[in-house]
Amino acid sequence: MSEVRIRPRQVLVLIIVFIFVLMMVHRNGKHTCQGPEYLQAMYSQSQANKLPKIYAITPTYARPAQKAELTRLSHLFMLVPNLHWIIIEDSNTTTSLVRNVLLRAGLEKRFTQLNIKTPTEFKIKGKDPNWIKPRGVEQRNLALAWLRAHADVDHHAVVFFMDDDNSYSVELFAEMMKIKPGRVGVWPVGLVGGLMVEKPLLDEDNKVIGFNAAWRPERPFPIDMAAFAISLDLFIKYPQAVFSYEVQRGYQESEILRHLATRDQLQPLANNCRDVLVWHTRTEKTKLSSEEALIKQGKRSDEGMQV
Ligand code: UDP
Ligand code: MN
Repeated sequence: MSEVRIRPRQVLVLIIVFIFVLMMVHRNGKHTCQGPEYLQAMYSQSQANKLPKIYAITPTYARPAQKAELTRLSHLFMLVPNLHWIIIEDSNTTTSLVRNVLLRAGLEKRFTQLNIKTPTEFKIKGKDPNWIKPRGVEQRNLALAWLRAHADVDHHAVVFFMDDDNSYSVELFAEMMKIKPGRVGVWPVGLVGGLMVEKPLLDEDNKVIGFNAAWRPERPFPIDMAAFAISLDLFIKYPQAVFSYEVQRGYQESEILRHLATRDQLQPLANNCRDVLVWHTRTEKTKLSSEEALIKQGKRSDEGMQV
């Protein structure tokens, strides 16, 4: 039997190679996040399992720009490690278009795909470009029912109503993680209510004492759906907190919040409400006159594709 002999020099070389590989792995680990400080903080806390989960609730409906809107949102989810997406389609079934967006963003373990159709009689157009009934009510309520039945209530988490056409900064999600148990976080929203920015007004102790809203300022909470997020425990404590068709236009936010908080319990975020991290953008209706002409000839530009 031949004996394999390892010389001390070879051992030394092996040790050096091993240390080098270890250093490379360590360096690469650090390189997983090179972004701004709030993102780095988010990643290191996420690795330590210290981040509260954020349940983002998004009603969505089929229209030409749906995939584009959802793709934009899905890229936020790629960046924010502790988001769970509850996406509720306003349709009779869940669709492969929506599922494919989620899968393509690598979110297979981080989403819940639901569906419930808004009754068609609620979708007749009213006087202005809005539906006669508020949008997203059935969908958000189904998500709340899902949360109350399935969410991990032993751990602090945050719930955010995230419409599919707004523009969100990743930084907004870093802010939401500061929401304390039992509290509702609030912040400014850009381009809404006829103003450049709607925002909570604070006193010198940084308590919310009012809002600058110009549109229906008499509402109990004159803020947009994107202006707040809620500690999950409040939804468990107050099971009667749901959205309703029985309220006037613009009162959905007040309807849900009246169960959950008083004004002085609101927790101001985003640099004490001085930063705008979300904008109430609205996507223009897609013009498809040439597509319609094609369809009349029995053709389509998107044959066999999901656009
Ligand atoms: N939505 C829906 N069904 C509809 C219309 C809207 O599920 O028939 C969803 C939409 O995708 C969005 C939310 O409800 O996530 C709010 O709708 P929209 O953005 O049109 O409202 P607004 O911009 O007027 O607040
Ligand atoms: Mn919108």
